[in-house]
Amino acid sequence: MEKELKDIRAYHLKVIEDKLIELITHKNRILAVQSEEIGEFKKSFNEFKPLTQVIQKTTRECLQEFQSKLDEADRQAIQQFHQQQDQLEYHANRLNQQQNQMQLIQELFEQQTKQRLQISEMQKVKERMLNELQQTKEELEQKKFLKQQLMNNFKLSQQQQIQLQQELKDTEHQKRYWNNLLQEAKGNIRVYCRIRPNSQEDMLLLNGECTLVLRVPERFLKSTNCQKESSFNFEHIFNQEADQQEIYNELSDLVQNVVDGHNVCIFAYGQTGSGKTYTMQGDDYNKGVIPRAVEQIFQERQGMLELGWQTTIRVGFQEIYNEQSRDLITNQKCDDVKLLDVKDIVEVAEHFNTAKKNRQVAETLSNEVSSRSHFIFQLNLQGHLGDKQINSTLNLIDLAGSERANVAKTEGDRFTETKAINKSLSALGDVFNALYTKQQHVPFRNSKLTFSLYKYMEGSSKTLMMVNISSRSEDFQQTLASLRFAEKVKSCQMKK
Ligand code: ADP
Ligand code: MG
Repeated sequence: MEKELKDIRAYHLKVIEDKLIELITHKNRILAVQSEEIGEFKKSFNEFKPLTQVIQKTTRECLQEFQSKLDEADRQAIQQFHQQQDQLEYHANRLNQQQNQMQLIQELFEQQTKQRLQISEMQKVKERMLNELQQTKEELEQKKFLKQQLMNNFKLSQQQQIQLQQELKDTEHQKRYWNNLLQEAKGNIRVYCRIRPNSQEDMLLLNGECTLVLRVPERFLKSTNCQKESSFNFEHIFNQEADQQEIYNELSDLVQNVVDGHNVCIFAYGQTGSGKTYTMQGDDYNKGVIPRAVEQIFQERQGMLELGWQTTIRVGFQEIYNEQSRDLITNQKCDDVKLLDVKDIVEVAEHFNTAKKNRQVAETLSNEVSSRSHFIFQLNLQGHLGDKQINSTLNLIDLAGSERANVAKTEGDRFTETKAINKSLSALGDVFNALYTKQQHVPFRNSKLTFSLYKYMEGSSKTLMMVNISSRSEDFQQTLASLRFAEKVKSCQMKK
């Protein structure tokens, strides 16, 4: 198209050019003829002077005529030139228009190419999406299949669970049966002994887990009428290195007895400073029997709930001082301590803190109340499942210091305190004796301590006496007294 336009343009230019050359040649020819004629005319003019004027006139007229013809030819040539120019302009405009159209067409073409690319991209995306859709459909099918399988498995495991629960119930029944048999075999009363850690004193010597040898220190040899060495046997003796966990391992089966429906009493006996409170309560890093037992019972209770038992746990805190009982939560004197419902171990700990605070207040009022009074923690567990029922209580008792002061040498408050402690501790010994030798009359009423606990010491109840002793030679007499008390309790068991 462009070439065609160029050719047209060249053609027109050529035509114009030819015309111009033709006109100029024509003009030149006329001019040459005229100058020749003028020369001849001048000659003739001179010859024919008279005619000169006429000829001049004619010549002028001719010249004028030629001039006008020339002007006319020029005018025509210019007119033609203008016409050609107009045509040229017209063709140039057409050319521009066509060029613009060409550009437009090119742009459109580019746009179309772009659109074609976009369409092919979109087609790829569409294909990809279709593939993904297909995959999702397949996954969905798989999941439906898995769900069906899971439903089947679930039904199966539900049946298994029912079966397992039945087996668990049977096992639980067996566990209770065997644990009770074990307790029966161990006796309803057990005596354990714990030696408080001390410096390198060798007054006490352990011989195996059950035998302890007490050597009388030189300075006491004369004042006591015992042999140089005496040996004592108990169910278990914990040496100075035994930690709280080790102690608990040996008595957790007793706590299990509470869950099995039996009452249990665990006493910590010993002189002040021998480690009774440490054994029973412990500290934040070395938890004692009370927090561990609470944890165990709550754990066991969880198992019972899973088996469908309905249960209630209640706790109480009591102090017996000078033959008077005080509820450590209400901080009031009382005959029967009020048991409080608890839902978890946190609540038990909160009540325990209240009890401790109330005990401390009393301590500041009267010196050393804690070592001169008995502390009783009670946890009652009630439960029923169908026709099965349990109602049992765990009693953890931190006894008053067993050191026997010479009553005759004490006066006033101290006299009353000492008398009260002596009375209750010997009443406790008497109760053990009567209970385990199956006497008709058990003297529970002889002290506030035994009277508070009588319900939990009778029948199938289990009792543990943890005797805490010191290995320091200066504590020899107290250690000997404690070991003798422990031996007496143990002998009740033997007489059975
Ligand atoms: P008690 O209650 O018999 O008067 P404590 O339990 O208060 O005696 O013990 C007296 C001190 O000895 C406490 O500071 C206690 O922490 C510490 N104690 C007792 N027994 C142990 C032990 N087995 N290990 C470490 N410290 C002990
Ligand atoms: Mg104490």
